Amino acid sequence: MSYPKLKINLSKIKQNVSRLVKMCNEKDIKVAGVTKVFCANKDIVSAYIDGGVSYLADSRMQNLKKLKDIDIKKIMLRLPMKSEVGDIVQYADISLNSEIDTIRELSKKAIEIGKIHNIVLMVDLGDLREGYYYNENLMKAVEEIIQLQGVDIVGLGTNMTCYGAVIPKPQDLQKLIEIKENIEKKYSLKLEIISGGNSSSIHLLEENDLDINNLRLGESLVLGKETAYGEQIEGTVDDAFILQVEVIETKEKPSIPTGEIGKDAFGNIPTFIDRGVRKRTICAIGKQDIDIDALNPLDLQIIILGASSDHLILDTSDSKNDYKVGDVIEFKLSYGGILSAMTSPYIDKDIE
Ligand SMILES: *Cc1c(COP(=O)(O)O)cnc(C)c1O
Repeated sequence: MSYPKLKINLSKIKQNVSRLVKMCNEKDIKVAGVTKVFCANKDIVSAYIDGGVSYLADSRMQNLKKLKDIDIKKIMLRLPMKSEVGDIVQYADISLNSEIDTIRELSKKAIEIGKIHNIVLMVDLGDLREGYYYNENLMKAVEEIIQLQGVDIVGLGTNMTCYGAVIPKPQDLQKLIEIKENIEKKYSLKLEIISGGNSSSIHLLEENDLDINNLRLGESLVLGKETAYGEQIEGTVDDAFILQVEVIETKEKPSIPTGEIGKDAFGNIPTFIDRGVRKRTICAIGKQDIDIDALNPLDLQIIILGASSDHLILDTSDSKNDYKVGDVIEFKLSYGGILSAMTSPYIDKDIE
């Protein structure tokens, strides 16, 4: 028992996964369960499998290695580094790609170990992160991949609402389908996977003629949120991950520091709201562990005032609870919060 502690409820995660898998399968869409947010923790991965995902997907090689004994197709989400292609062909069945140089290296390594590695080519529909933006470059890549041994082109994918925050629309995904049909006709190929994005594409499930057949889902599985508009998806929960932190000081103090204000520990000049003398409660967690904006207190009367590396400072004056040293305060987390809490070695993980 040590704090800070991240409580992880597997049955809630499974509930979210089952719900999303059902919604997608009804539209003939398979779900690739994205595991990077929880560092491919094996218990949570089991909840994904029980919930019915068709693939596991991760962006980090260390995580893919953890999944190696699980009998399900694995997708490398981040464009492979040339320096890791040997591991990619060994630990991933499919990788998302946009550079022919890297694909040539994947081909060599796949031949070396006698495997066929599957390539999904990424198409940039305007979000300006990864993928081919101009069609002629995409076509040139397809032509070369067809000639290469050891690699098969199995599909197209796109990623949106990550960098440019562009929300996918039906016409965007229609464009992807047109490109796919073009390629299939021109090169007599069958592209089995049309991966229409991440949790920001879920709102499109309401459309009728959506021809994509794959989504790569992370946030919607762990938090039940679609990320285009930030709505909670019906039948899902957002409290499968709860952060518990321990109170180490609680005192009445003024709201404004005394003396000349310089820069804080992170080089910022802080601002203060004068609420008079208030009950300030300090907890043992800080910016080294988590982004403070990622925290949502379960006790809605708590105001988060700020944090330094190791201290979280709360105003608990309005709370019905009289917090004392040694008490535990609980928070829901945003996606970024789960990501950093799972990654921090200073936060204990308690899986139930
Ligand atoms: C992280 C990631 C996803 C998952 O995104 P969510 O918004 O969490 O669903 C999907 N695709 C790629 C390429 C990713 O890197």
